Amino acid sequence: MKISQAVGNACTVPASNVETQNNNPSRESKIIYLPGTNCEIKSQALLSAFTSYRVGGAAELYVAPRNIEALQASLKYAQEHNLRVTTLGAGSNLLVSDRGISGLVIATRHLRYNHFDHQTGQVTVAAGESIPSLAWEIAKLGWQGFEWAVGIPGTVGGAVVMNAGAHNSCIADILVSAQVLSPDGTIETLTPEELGYAYRTSLLQGSNRVVTQATFQLQPGFDPAYVTATTRQHKQMRLTTQPYNFPSCGSVFRNPKPYSAGWLIEQSGLKGYQIGGAQVAHLHANFIVNRGGAKANDIFCLIRHIQQEVQERWSILLEPEVKMLGEFQAA
Ligand SMILES: Cc1cc2nc3c(=O)[nH]c(=O)nc-3n(C[C@H](O)[C@H](O)[C@H](O)COP(=O)(O)OP(=O)(O)OC[C@H]3O[C@@H](n4cnc5c(N)ncnc54)[C@H](O)[C@@H]3O)c2cc1C
Repeated sequence: MKISQAVGNACTVPASNVETQNNNPSRESKIIYLPGTNCEIKSQALLSAFTSYRVGGAAELYVAPRNIEALQASLKYAQEHNLRVTTLGAGSNLLVSDRGISGLVIATRHLRYNHFDHQTGQVTVAAGESIPSLAWEIAKLGWQGFEWAVGIPGTVGGAVVMNAGAHNSCIADILVSAQVLSPDGTIETLTPEELGYAYRTSLLQGSNRVVTQATFQLQPGFDPAYVTATTRQHKQMRLTTQPYNFPSCGSVFRNPKPYSAGWLIEQSGLKGYQIGGAQVAHLHANFIVNRGGAKANDIFCLIRHIQQEVQERWSILLEPEVKMLGEFQAA
């Protein structure tokens, strides 16, 4: 389905996965009001506050639209001013350079609503809704099928783009459709097949489209206490096997089947290895944690070091799952 909306011509640059750098030498802060919306664009907004690693420099420009019209106006502004666009969910799978990123960062954090259809067992959720909160809400209704997602600290939009998954389940298994906005204002409703889902990936990665909402199919009619208890078990399992006590981005590398990245890193003797404030977690070797005061570049250098060590030992090049934005310097 295609709905045409007047927003302007296509943005010339990808919305995500782009390597950009904030080169504004003056770093002065200003606010631009988007006409016809209650939305403002801020300059030099620190992104460390909006990423789970708690590192990174400023966005040249930052906006957090509160509805689709404001989102469209933001994309139009970017197109008119020839700005790169980067979409930001909860920032739980991002490493933002210490030097920041250029262009316009569009955060989905204020795009919030949900609608539960009790007849069909489908829930339609806005891109900025939190995955863990949604998991608890679904459990309280006694609907099965989302318990696995409770430990994924991202947004619905980020989960759809990343095909987030855990405990042998993933978004592709339950997604009915995703609504996607293109820079030219076109809104499309795409099926999982059209999104080209595979392990932790979709065709939306590296594209310039923004997920605005998603519909998931669940199974209603179960005892809420039972589904809540299962959800709690999933959460508990994560807390005991993964280092949730320090800032991280979850798993840094994709698993190069048939191996697990964590096992390869552990067997390479890298658990506890540290560069600056960035450390390979003792609890789970595929996590790099910020032990305090880490720079984004410490994390970047540690990623490169792990890749080199694992490649030397196993002849396998680990592929990062984390999206790196901006400019980094290898040691
Ligand atoms: C402690 C911890 C545990 C984790 N465990 C898991 C896990 O078990 N399984 C798992 O799969 N992941 C896990 N992650 C990683 C992360 O939570 C997921 O990848 C999550 O889906 C990212 O969502 P986000 O909203 O934070 O996206 P972001 O990190 O903000 O963005 C990720 C990518 O998606 C793009 N994007 C975000 N929102 C949109 C949108 N609306 N439209 C278009 N593009 C968008 C961004 O541009 C970027 O390229 C974990 C992370 C942490 C910190």
